[in-house]
Amino acid sequence: MPDTRPVLLAAPDPARRQPLELFAAQATAAVGDREKGFALPIDHPTLFPLPGRGSTRALWESLATLGATDLSLARMLEPHLDARAILAEAKEPSQTTRDAAPVPDIGQGTWGVFAAEGAGMRVVASREGDQVVLSGRKPWCSLAGSLSHALVTAWVDENRRGLYAAPLTHPGVEVDDAAGWVARGLRDVPSVPVSFSDVPVVPIGEPGWYLERPGFAWGGIGVAVIWFGATVAIARRVFEQAHQRQLDQIGQSHLGAIDAAITGARSVLASAADLADSGTTDRAEAAIAALRCRRVAAETAETVLWRSDHALGPAPLALEEEHAARVADLRLYVRQEHAERDQAALGRALVTGAHDASPW
Ligand SMILES: Cc1cc2nc3c(=O)[nH]c(=O)nc-3n(C[C@H](O)[C@H](O)[C@H](O)COP(=O)(O)OP(=O)(O)OC[C@H]3O[C@@H](n4cnc5c(N)ncnc54)[C@H](O)[C@@H]3O)c2cc1C
Repeated sequence: MPDTRPVLLAAPDPARRQPLELFAAQATAAVGDREKGFALPIDHPTLFPLPGRGSTRALWESLATLGATDLSLARMLEPHLDARAILAEAKEPSQTTRDAAPVPDIGQGTWGVFAAEGAGMRVVASREGDQVVLSGRKPWCSLAGSLSHALVTAWVDENRRGLYAAPLTHPGVEVDDAAGWVARGLRDVPSVPVSFSDVPVVPIGEPGWYLERPGFAWGGIGVAVIWFGATVAIARRVFEQAHQRQLDQIGQSHLGAIDAAITGARSVLASAADLADSGTTDRAEAAIAALRCRRVAAETAETVLWRSDHALGPAPLALEEEHAARVADLRLYVRQEHAERDQAALGRALVTGAHDASPW
């Protein structure tokens, strides 16, 4: 029997519990069905508020619940919701400039965000008359062959990148063969290179805006929250073990260590949700919070992955479809965090960023 309980970041709010439970059941029913998956945020608007506007914990609990349900579904919806938040942010009067082209609505579209860079690949934005066009090749474009649009970063000169809304159905867009996606995790989320050739696009913000905008950090934490949800699902599987056999001291030790890691990560994410909604955070502080949350969530995922392997042995990895898929999916998904490199970035940010004294 799959465990469809929602994943919460703090004590449950009674008013939200029932809708979140209903959502968890519907998300389970949407696994493997992209149309039903993209309908989830439309069918449950109160569970998917924009981040940083007073209800961030509600959004992140929905993302964590999606992560616990199915990582392919979560990986499909996360960039779509990030694109929705980016477009909403770009429409705010404080962010718009007088001559800027109107920012598109997310509408009925299905969106990705393609911001990765890769060796030997570069997408360039240039102006042709009144129109901006993109040309070049972008790596790691999740689901590009089945989405309607993407927000794509592209170089405007040697040092600056802008963000552009691109129609993926344009004939100048060519998605690499998904057969190149040989991943064992996230098998249903091919993330292969895309070539753009003179594709007309709409600029979103000024060059550099994508990385500098206040919501960048909250989007990055949304991804960590999904890793956390899947980690909780794996931890629940270890807990189940206690009903199948009497745990010896080693089993108890694994469970205790898993509890400590999960409880710590949950409070880091919950306090980041409060920070996102505080309205007072400056960019350096938000960037530190994002690096910290992603590091803590990634490390918790890695701890629970190895402890669950040791505690459960090979059987669930070999014989249980849901557990085996979740472990393979999470191992790959969490590699979006740059491990020791992001740890160093956090240390650097603490020294050069918001804090004159240590923050603890
Ligand atoms: C399943 C999946 C889906 C994705 N989908 C998307 C998407 O839709 N949109 C998007 O924008 N991005 C996507 N990404 C890309 C992701 O955000 C990263 O850009 C991508 O994982 C590349 O990681 P990286 O930047 O660490 O790679 P690299 O920087 O190339 O690093 C690869 C490895 O090399 C090591 N390394 C790096 N520099 C050095 C050095 N100087 N010396 C020694 N070792 C070094 C790193 O430690 C790392 O282990 C996806 C990634 C995954 C895994």
